[in-house]
Amino acid sequence: MRHSTSMPHDHHDHDHDHAHALLPPDPALRVRALETILTEKGLIDPAALDAIIDTYAHKVGPQEGARVVARAWADPDFRTALLNNADAVLDGMGLTGRQGEHVVVVENTPQRHNMVVCTLCSCYPWTLLGIPPAWYKSDAYRARAVREPRAVLAEFGLTLPAEQAVRVWDSTAEVRYLILPMRPEGTEGWSAEQLLPLVTRDSMVGTGLPLSARDA
Ligand code: FE
Repeated sequence: MRHSTSMPHDHHDHDHDHAHALLPPDPALRVRALETILTEKGLIDPAALDAIIDTYAHKVGPQEGARVVARAWADPDFRTALLNNADAVLDGMGLTGRQGEHVVVVENTPQRHNMVVCTLCSCYPWTLLGIPPAWYKSDAYRARAVREPRAVLAEFGLTLPAEQAVRVWDSTAEVRYLILPMRPEGTEGWSAEQLLPLVTRDSMVGTGLPLSARDA
């Protein structure tokens, strides 16, 4: 900190004494500052960044993952292929790409419920679910999902039977997970198209269940 003795302590001088306070206080502003510096150095193209953000914020979203889940519910061969080698299946559907290079699909069963977290940061299958929700990135979710998954699920309104185990999958930059929820009861014979609206985003992260047949 620079201390001035020769100048009166007017507002201008005060600002100099507290230069650090001019740094952006919150993450959004820090990102903005970083983007400005990188642009000025010619390291990034802001138009390209805007295009990427627009794509994942507005064009790619949970409807992509929902298409995959609904099809897996309706088509047993597709389901088997998806569980065995999701990358190949998703590649064939044009659903691989940035933040979705390697995806593993895990299936919920009456014996086991699966949920996904990224304890390190916020790794998430963008190509299938879009941009992660704020809670997924929160310190609380990341810290507690592994330690007390049932308590976290209860806060999402999801209370599982005691006999159903909970398995938590920790996403990384290398592997992203998509949960294949259990097909809702009373939907026997439904087509993938009919099943599609039952698939919720949270059911594919494991913090929720699909809608029931009544909600269709
Ligand atoms: Fe991460």
